[in-house]
Amino acid sequence: MRTEFLPFSRPSLSELEINAVSDVLRSGWITTGALCAQFEDAFTAYTGAGGSVAVCSATGGMHCVLQALGIGPGDEVITPSMTWVSTVNLVCLMGATPVFADVDRETLMVTRETIEPLITERTRAIIPVHFAGAPAEMNGIRKLAQERGIALIEDAAHAAGTEYEGERIGKRGTAIFSFHPIKNMTTGEGGMVCSDDQDLLAKVRSLKFHGLGVDAYDRQIQGRSPQAQVLQPGYKYNLPDISAALGLCQLTQLPQFNERRAELASYYRARLSQLKEIFPIQAPGYPHLHTWHLFIVRLDIDRAKMSRDDLMAALKRANIGSGFHFRAVHLHDYYKKTFFIEPGALANTEWNSERILSLPLFPNMSYSDVDDVVDAVQATIREKCSNS
Ligand SMILES: *Cc1c(COP(=O)(O)O)cnc(C)c1O
Repeated sequence: MRTEFLPFSRPSLSELEINAVSDVLRSGWITTGALCAQFEDAFTAYTGAGGSVAVCSATGGMHCVLQALGIGPGDEVITPSMTWVSTVNLVCLMGATPVFADVDRETLMVTRETIEPLITERTRAIIPVHFAGAPAEMNGIRKLAQERGIALIEDAAHAAGTEYEGERIGKRGTAIFSFHPIKNMTTGEGGMVCSDDQDLLAKVRSLKFHGLGVDAYDRQIQGRSPQAQVLQPGYKYNLPDISAALGLCQLTQLPQFNERRAELASYYRARLSQLKEIFPIQAPGYPHLHTWHLFIVRLDIDRAKMSRDDLMAALKRANIGSGFHFRAVHLHDYYKKTFFIEPGALANTEWNSERILSLPLFPNMSYSDVDDVVDAVQATIREKCSNS
């Protein structure tokens, strides 16, 4: 058994980041400033987006975008239940109603087919999730949104560097990235709103800083009026330069990080192909570049005669961390009480929600770490099967 705990995720931070952050601390300017602007420009160049606004989290970015679109009471927003709760929480907090679309059983992503029947005259936005590092089927979804005149917001929290049919996520439309420490690149906490809609970006830029047309840096360094006017009431979701310095370092390394993730994922797939009780989620069939944010597998709970929670607990005892991405939102206590879901309407979501777990995957892992994980999974299942 491993003597050292293997977490399911760990950020790749080195002297590069330590020095960059030290420089910011020594500079005398630590909040949103020149480095944040540089980080936004670098991210725009990387994704090919029309523009980018850095925010304190993807959740904060989503809040600004929903506000900028005027989503509120009476509006419906279609999103998967197989997502992080932040999106659905925000839709509710805006006074709007989340409408859950089922996902493809193998990719865990919504499709045009699962979204279309849910559209009503009240549907104001569709929020697909690019899941685990793979892109959602954007041609169909984009066309649907355009035909019906509905806003499309891509949850790109898992998709820094992901490509769909030769184009980076973020290049077209509106996409929101997360730089939380478990994501493929991190700023500690942080996010980026990318869009080809300059009006929307201008609104988000204002909303993320009190609804002012300028930020502290504009006022103090650029010599803008210190008496800036509120354009509309806004939030306080700006990204400080300490975080932007991290982001600039991480972005230059993102291609290597993602390549290493892909190598480890392919080693996992080869090793796991021998286990009948474990089957990874599948990559979509259309052309894409996968960035392997997560390595998600499903446990065949009937064959293994154990639950996913049992397997996660056993791995923990073997000093191996694992994650659960995600418990379907509609199965959380609050949402169970608040929304009635037709039995069977979210069959693939519920089926997966009971069986998925994320095995350790991060760039600084070794192949022998992967061996440890696969061996521990195998030993756990064997032991269970031989005991019952
Ligand atoms: C992490 C995550 C978010 C939220 O990102 P934060 O930066 O933590 O706010 C949103 N959606 C998905 C799918 C995520 O995994």
